[in-house]
Amino acid sequence: MSGTASDCLFCKIVAGQIPAKITYRDDEVVAFADIKPAAPLHELVIPVRHITNVAAVEAKDAALIGKLMIVAADRARAAGASDGFRVVTNNGAGAGQSVFHLHLHVLAGRPLSWPPG
Ligand code: AMP
Ligand code: ZN
Repeated sequence: MSGTASDCLFCKIVAGQIPAKITYRDDEVVAFADIKPAAPLHELVIPVRHITNVAAVEAKDAALIGKLMIVAADRARAAGASDGFRVVTNNGAGAGQSVFHLHLHVLAGRPLSWPPG
């Protein structure tokens, strides 16, 4: 699935149809605050274009996926996450994915144990 999905929550956030605290936006990537933060810093970094998850990424998406990582690191730096941060993406319902538009969670501001649950 790629493009815009009319029933997708995050496509609606990109389109401004659902409010969100947007922290970064360009033509390809949007970042916004997670509505239910799991850490003092918890932002989601997403592609503007609808991609379901990591499993749906194709070779042509390589630059875009790299850019998501760069924006994720920029968001952590902007929040002053000098003590480390975590970038994680859940792929599939069995791994906890609940919104089926690719997103990187950027988490920081508290001790982050490993492995996650
Ligand atoms: P995941 O479970 O990995 O798919 O992550 C989805 C994330 O989206 C969760 O951390 C939710 O708290 C977050 N979320 C759900 N709805 C919204 C919303 N309207 N605005 C911001 N974040 C949201
Ligand atoms: Zn979408």
